[in-house]
Parts: sequence; C-alpha cells; structure tokens
Amino acid sequence: MLNPSIVGSLPKPLWLAEANSLRAPWRLGGAALQAAQDDAVRLALLEQEEAGMTVVTDGELRRRHYIWGFLDGLTGTDTEQLTKKRSRGGRYGDLTDVARLTGTVERRTPVFVEACRFARAHTNRLLKVTLPGPMTIADSVADQASGADFETLAMRFAVLLNAEARDLVEAGADVVQFDEPCFNIYLEEMVAWGMDALEHAMDGVRATKAVHICYGYGTSVVLKWKTQNTDWGHYGLSLPLLAKSSVDQVSVETAASGVDVSVLRELAGKDVLVGVIDVGTDEVESAETVAARIERVLPYVSPDRLVPSTDCGLVPRSREAAIGKMRALAAGAALVRAGLRES
Ligand code: ZN
Repeated sequence: MLNPSIVGSLPKPLWLAEANSLRAPWRLGGAALQAAQDDAVRLALLEQEEAGMTVVTDGELRRRHYIWGFLDGLTGTDTEQLTKKRSRGGRYGDLTDVARLTGTVERRTPVFVEACRFARAHTNRLLKVTLPGPMTIADSVADQASGADFETLAMRFAVLLNAEARDLVEAGADVVQFDEPCFNIYLEEMVAWGMDALEHAMDGVRATKAVHICYGYGTSVVLKWKTQNTDWGHYGLSLPLLAKSSVDQVSVETAASGVDVSVLRELAGKDVLVGVIDVGTDEVESAETVAARIERVLPYVSPDRLVPSTDCGLVPRSREAAIGKMRALAAGAALVRAGLRES
C-alpha cells in the first residue's frame, strides 16, 4: 500500500554529462562511456533503494534523451543532425528541434535489452523500463524518408515498440511503461487512433503495463507554458479511455499542474501513479507536503491502488535534489500509511 516509485529518469552524474540539461552530450565515448554508464546505473539503483522506492528504474542514464535513446537503436534515424518541426502542438515554441528519419526505420537488434539485463542483475527490487509512446515518438521526429502522416508513423513505431517491450519482459522487466505526454496535447488524435497505437505497443506484453501522461519535463519552457495554461481538462478525456484499455497502471501529474484530482476516480480498477513531487524545482518538498498531496487524492483512488510518484522524470534536477525528493516521497507515503493504519 502506497509503495513509492519514480516515473523514470534521474539526473546524470557530472562525470557522465553536463547537469541540468535534457540533451547534454556524453563526456566520454566507446568503452569508457559504457563503463561510466554501468557505474551510473548501479548508483541510481542504489540511490532509489536507499530512498525507499519499491519499483526501480535504471534512471534512463544510457539515453541522452528519452526518445532519442530508442531512436538511436533503430536504423534510418538521425539524432545528431536535427531539423525543425512544429511538435507538441506548438505548445513550447512554434518550431522545435527534432530528430530525423532518413531511411527505412527498422529494429534489427533489441535496443534496451542489454541495459535491462544489467539493471536486473544489480537489484532485487521490481524493475521498470520506460519506452517513449508511439504517438509521442511520431510527434518528435521529422520523417524525411517516407513522409508518412502522424497516424501512420505512430502505428509503425507501435510495432517496433511492441517487439522491444516483449523482449524487455524476457530480459527481466517487471513493468514496461510507455511515456505518452502527447495524450495531454492531441486529444482528437488520441481518441481517433492514439489509444489503438498504445494498445498495439502493449499487445501480448506479459508484465505490468504502464502509461505515463504528464504536462512535460520541469524545464523553463514547459514551466512558462504551465504558468499561462488555464485548461487542465485533458485527463477527463484520456483517463476514461485508459480505464477501458488493457493498461494496468496510469501515471499522472498532480503536484505542479492545475489538474482537478477528482478526475482520478475515472481510473477505478487500475493502479494510479500519482505525481506528488514537483520536478520543476530543486526545492525539496517536506514529508508533510507530500503527505497532503497524497491525502488529497485518497477520496478518488483506493490506497492499495495508489503509487506515490514524481510528476515526471527527474533528469533536469540536481542529483542532490533528486535524492532529496525521492526520500521526501517515501517519507510522505509513510506518514499517510501510518495515518491510515491508525484510523
Ligand atoms: Zn513526463
């Protein structure tokens, strides 16, 4: 009951890449980079265990960016020579830098399976592996090879993601999570085909299947958009659809958004990862603040279905803040748990 876990990413250690940056280049290459990433993952697992997370991830420390990590494992992709595209509905800028598709996109070898095996070998906790969702990938690339439309592209990626997800389960993943922040942006498309694409990605995946839907990373451009945004009704459309889907867990953002948490009642029967940690600031919440955010949700989510979590990835934060926030998450959950036992 109220077992905490993070959404996925953690800050990269200073010796691996520049801090507080989403797409910072690696400081090392070749075998040195591999060894440094191995070390970073071991630390990330340890830090999550010490902080009291019950499900752990590899911190996404082998990916420069959560979408590029998967793209880099495919043929026909380019995450070095970027181009401009109107992505995320223009929410964070009219045109933003995106990766390019330059040829036939194929998954000739597994992408994260070795990384999954490594993490599996270094923790006894439940292991979650995150993958970008099909709609979010399709929105984040410019298809200069085939010129496929949004839906066609998403469906193509759903096939590749499904193969990857199945292999990750074979390699020891207990939870496979698809990150679909675009479900909070393209509502018409989500209804028309986005849910189908997600179902396809999850098809036959014999592990706990999760989807993470947030309002973006805690970066300055996203924070600026959030301060101006007045419509927080997106979950009202996506959560009832997810309730009818085959997904087991839904991860939502409630700490740093204006979302009315009563919408979470729509997810009856699913596990709900409730974001109670703001990932847009290095300021560490008190256990009491975290507890209050969890308690706010209790009228709508049963405690045995409630997973206290972060709003989104912790990658843009300092390591110190990330560790502090994980500890606050566990401490806040413990406060609520103790209160529930007493009552
Ligand atoms: Zn997120």
